[in-house]
Formats: sequence, C-alpha cells, structure tokens
Amino acid sequence: MSEVSACVGLGANLGDTRAVLAAAYCSLQQLPSTRHHRCSPWFISAPVDSSGPDYLNAVACFDTSLSPHALLEALQGIERSHGRERPYRNAPRTLDLDLLLYGDQQIESATLTVPHPRMHERAFVLLPLATLLPGAVIPGRGPVSTLMSSVAGQSVWPAD
Ligand code: AMP
Repeated sequence: MSEVSACVGLGANLGDTRAVLAAAYCSLQQLPSTRHHRCSPWFISAPVDSSGPDYLNAVACFDTSLSPHALLEALQGIERSHGRERPYRNAPRTLDLDLLLYGDQQIESATLTVPHPRMHERAFVLLPLATLLPGAVIPGRGPVSTLMSSVAGQSVWPAD
C-alpha cells in the first residue's frame, strides 16, 4: 500500500501536560506502518471553545500506509491510554489528538472529516504546522502561510 504524509494535532490541558505530550509523541512514533516522524516545537495557547488551564499544543507529521480510519482509531487508542474522559463536549482533556491532514485527501465520513474542519481557524494548529511545514497547504482552504493572518489575534506563544 502506498504511503501518504499525515499530520496530527496534539493538545493537553490537564495534569502534567509536558509529560503527556512527550508520551503521546512517543506513542505516535511506535504506531505500526508509520515512519519519518517529526514534531513541531511546543506552543502554549489559551483555551478556544473549551475551558480550564492553558493548553500545550504541537503538530506531528509522519509517513504512513495506515488507512485514514485506521489512523483515527489508533489516535483514539492513544487518547484512551492517557485516560481521556469525555464527560461533555469540549471538556478539558488530558490528551486530544486530531487527524489534521492525510496527504492531500479530502475525506467526509460519519466518523472522520479531513482536513480537520476547524484547523484552518485555529492559531494553535496553524502556528506549529507552519513551523514544521512552512509550505503546507490545507486542501480546500489554502496555504497555511496565508491562513495565519486571519488568526493573528489568537493567543499562542512558544512553550520554552
Ligand atoms: P474531539 O472530542 O474533539 O476529539 O472529537 C472526537 C470526535 O470527532 C470523534 O467522534 C471522531 O470520530 C470525530 N472526528 C471527525 N473528524 C476528526 C478528525 N479529523 N480528527 C479527530 N477526530 C475527528
């Protein structure tokens, strides 16, 4: 099966967020049928459509021959292994993993929308993504470098 380049958004705002993000990236690196993993620097962001403490965010990209739905299931497995609970929509979360991009594919199914439907309007996604892949284009939305200007008012800053 051929490989595509996939990008995943990582976010955490409960517990030891640095340890959670580091462990989550380790888990991504251990997924079968994935290779050439790379991760953006980490950023801190104020909650958007959510509550609680600030988030720690990053974007990881890798090449994979997993199908998009198999990849989504794998991401949900990693979330569960970090004790994510879903008491209500947009609740604070130990770990949130979103499938942002799967090659240049546009996917619309009952369980999966790719590109992630809100990624183009979130600075905490666009900034790490632009740092990792400055030339990235979001299918149906445009170049990340262009989209960045519309989220300039959102609070996101480097974690270090
Ligand atoms: P959330 O609670 O924000 O992590 O949303 C999880 C739900 O969104 C799950 O039921 C997924 O099936 C669905 N979903 C749809 N598209 C995506 C995507 N691109 N990445 C992650 N979850 C997605």
